[in-house]
Amino acid sequence: MPFTSLCEWSRRLSAGEISAVELARLYLERVARYNGRLNAFVHHDEEAILEQAAASDAHRAKHGARALEGLPIAIKDIFCTREGPTQCCSNILRGYQAPYDAHVITLLKEAGAVLFGKTNMDEFAMGSSNETSAFGPCRNPWDAERIPGGSSGGSACAVAAGLAPAALGTDTGGSIRQPASLCGITGLKPTYGRVSRRGIIAFASSLDQAGPMTRSVEDAALLASVLCGHDPADATSVSNVPQIDWKAAVGRQDLKGVRIGRPREYFSEGMDAGVLGCVERALECCQGLGAEIVDISLPHTEAAVATYYVIAPSEASANLARYDGVRFGHRCEQPRDLLDLYTRTRDEGFGPEVKRRILTGTFALSSGYYDAYYLKAQKVRTLIRQDFLRAFEQVDVIATPTSPVTAFRIGEKTNDPLTMYLADVFTIAVNLAGLPALSQPCGFVDGLPVGLQWIAPAWREDRLLSAAAAYEKATDWLSRTPELEAMA
Ligand code: GLN
Repeated sequence: MPFTSLCEWSRRLSAGEISAVELARLYLERVARYNGRLNAFVHHDEEAILEQAAASDAHRAKHGARALEGLPIAIKDIFCTREGPTQCCSNILRGYQAPYDAHVITLLKEAGAVLFGKTNMDEFAMGSSNETSAFGPCRNPWDAERIPGGSSGGSACAVAAGLAPAALGTDTGGSIRQPASLCGITGLKPTYGRVSRRGIIAFASSLDQAGPMTRSVEDAALLASVLCGHDPADATSVSNVPQIDWKAAVGRQDLKGVRIGRPREYFSEGMDAGVLGCVERALECCQGLGAEIVDISLPHTEAAVATYYVIAPSEASANLARYDGVRFGHRCEQPRDLLDLYTRTRDEGFGPEVKRRILTGTFALSSGYYDAYYLKAQKVRTLIRQDFLRAFEQVDVIATPTSPVTAFRIGEKTNDPLTMYLADVFTIAVNLAGLPALSQPCGFVDGLPVGLQWIAPAWREDRLLSAAAAYEKATDWLSRTPELEAMA
């Protein structure tokens, strides 16, 4: 039951087989039983959840069902919500109460969804393992000694462990796709500009994008159909772009005539052999479904991680300047003067990884270094984008591993930021190019999930969804669920 898909719950709710209140209770019981060990949720208000569910049942009885009527959706702690705290898993925002809902939260509410608590994440979404959270690490449901990935680790864990049927995440350099991969679920990062960023706490504004984290591809399409759309109050949200027929996109059964690009740079040596094997078998399966596999090259892939770690911290250093002890969140005790207020507040409020990013970002933007780092990174970003544009002249979609390795052990990489940064080597270029991408389960190595990443041209989420849907129908990875009894 807890591993039932969002679409199936929607059908059962409509058939009257279960009420929204009963559904919420089912997941609340799961949270009560397993969250102590997993730490997927950092805030959970049972009363507020049951109230929303009851209101949804009443709405259904009176006016009929909306797109997500009665469906519980877990929310990453980065989305501003009027109800409950929004803390970005940082001490600097501990107890912070947002004065308004993020645009996508408004959309969820208008669609009848039940906001099902706030999920754990890396502090300010900076990390790949959920270990930088001020609320302690979240654990991987397939092996509690391992990380769930990050930064949307709590959302991935909640869905994979059946503590919620779906969740929202954000993806700046892989934060939806990498944890989806490491927890064995589906995660979609839409094209930059497809989803409004208003009310989502900013990390790197030119890269951040929100998206669904779900069990099935069909579920991702359902949630995306609600989240995507123009928001006039966000200047980076785009109007006049091709709309997607989300339902039609997931209907595909085969891959006849689809040209899948296999970029040689993403199938390199040094990758986990087990992971490589799973992805190769997935591509063979796609070939069996009628696809043509085309070898391609994305020559600037090598520069993606370095480019990202100039651009993202630069933008973060500017975005995080607002946490000054005056307007938001934490303020130090008895400041001597204004400078003391700033420095002590920020020293007490930010964790080490966030400080590292602010320092490198400030350095990269500083006068005298700007041209050598930030400007240069912007130029390389263009080259990376052009690689993809060229590749898409030859192929319809690109397939790669999502992560070079399966979930690593808690603590394994915490003292080595560079190795940690390399965990995102396959996801980062997509953000730099602003493209849509999706990760879905494609096998297991030693009991740990492996993810397959699909990348499409801008505004062609339909291509991701149809390729992923066809592959999902041909395999049965979704039927595997983690054994949680030991964690109760
Ligand atoms: N792991 C990457 C980072 O630490 C990406 C994070 C994200 O996508 N939010 O920056």
